[in-house]
Amino acid sequence: MKLLFVAAEIYPYAKSGGLADVAQALPKELNKDIVVTSIMPLYSFIDREKHKIYRLNKSFDIELGEELYRVELYQGFNRGVKTLFVYEESLCDRSGLYGDEEGDYADNYMRFGLFSKAVVMIAKAYNIEILHLNDWHTALAALWVRELYPSSRTLFTIHNLAFQGIYPHEAVTELGIDEKFFNSAGIEFWDSANFLKAGIAYSNKVTTVSPRYAQEILSVSFGCGLEGFLEQHQEKLCGILNGIDRELFDPLLDQAIAQRYSLYSLPNKSQNKRSLCQELGLEEPERPLFIFIGRFTKQKGLDLIIEALPQILEMDINISILGEGESDMASDLTKIAQEHKNLSLIFGYDESLSHRKYAAADFLLMPSSFEPCGLNQLISYRYGTLPLVHRVGGLYDTVIDIDEEESALCGRGIALKSLDTKGLKEAIARAVELYIQKPSRLLEIITKNMQCDVSFQESAEKYLDCYIDTIE
Ligand code: ADP
Repeated sequence: MKLLFVAAEIYPYAKSGGLADVAQALPKELNKDIVVTSIMPLYSFIDREKHKIYRLNKSFDIELGEELYRVELYQGFNRGVKTLFVYEESLCDRSGLYGDEEGDYADNYMRFGLFSKAVVMIAKAYNIEILHLNDWHTALAALWVRELYPSSRTLFTIHNLAFQGIYPHEAVTELGIDEKFFNSAGIEFWDSANFLKAGIAYSNKVTTVSPRYAQEILSVSFGCGLEGFLEQHQEKLCGILNGIDRELFDPLLDQAIAQRYSLYSLPNKSQNKRSLCQELGLEEPERPLFIFIGRFTKQKGLDLIIEALPQILEMDINISILGEGESDMASDLTKIAQEHKNLSLIFGYDESLSHRKYAAADFLLMPSSFEPCGLNQLISYRYGTLPLVHRVGGLYDTVIDIDEEESALCGRGIALKSLDTKGLKEAIARAVELYIQKPSRLLEIITKNMQCDVSFQESAEKYLDCYIDTIE
């Protein structure tokens, strides 16, 4: 079986969130059983020398509407996985992945349309049997496969239904997509073009990143307008839980953290806390440390956190927030941080700092309003940090409350009883109580969490079954 794994971002080359982690870890796991090649755009900010990315003597002429683009092919290896890179100026010569301070790039439909069509031509040249497409940036490949390479099969994974790639009808013309695809069974969505919908329509199989989210998206509350369409395609839809690369997120191997530790040397974790508190200017490091890492959006429950912060910060705790996103949230946080010494706020994306935070923290804040899978809670398990979550989507599938009866789920955390500030404050109060009054119980829980299998092993087998399904 020859598989091409297609993503707009792959760690360590480019990462804006969980997609990049998955696009690194899953192909690595699959590569043990089948021949996997990954492919992504060669953004100009990627350091070719550092990552040993070399130019191949291959180029492809790609026609999009009236325009002809010449695409060059590069190659590297990502922990043993052959990775191809597509270079074309208008796709790659940008400072960001999808946008900059001024917002999303207006021509993203052309950029990722080009990438998707190039992927199909490259798949054909390499005799690829199955294309594994991820999110809307790659979805049009499913449509073009039907026209240009019909003997191959496609599996499309939805990592977040909230991002669909919706553009005016003219985009279809500009991309040179045949009008026959612009209908309610295809790419058309309320008179606009919806890339993700095309991915659902034309792929042989559709997956999403947790079993619970696969059910939730069939409802109005989580379906983002596509619930009816997904229901029509329910037969080919399934949820497969994400995992993480256990080697990349291992406190015993992690080069980014102050003091390495494992299950058997857990007291060393506290050195990381002291060191991070010093780095961030947080006083009294013996207090419980809560962290938030992620995009500033309602999805991640940051609106709730902001609303509750002034009261939460009156408790004897430290909070550290790292991320970027909605500017209103950023300015609200800035104001609160000016008035509270026990809140540290860092804007931006910083991989190494995120590792130092997982290693240092006692608790992770993740009160998501919806969560396709979520990786932060899995990473937290690895680092002996207890997640506080709203049990929705993948958080439902991976976290059970510390006071619940034993269950098949491996990992435990503190579950919000309601998704509001009251629920959040109560959860934090429970965490503080556990930390202060029942440290041995806390130790017992995080020790068990550290032993959970959060790898991709089991899920990779499920993907293999799905690939086989697409052929049969
Ligand atoms: P998302 O919905 O944003 O993809 P996930 O929970 O699936 O969220 O994955 C988030 C990944 O990105 C994790 O590896 C997390 O540590 C990382 N991450 C998110 N925001 C930041 C940031 N500001 N700096 C560093 N790492 C981040």
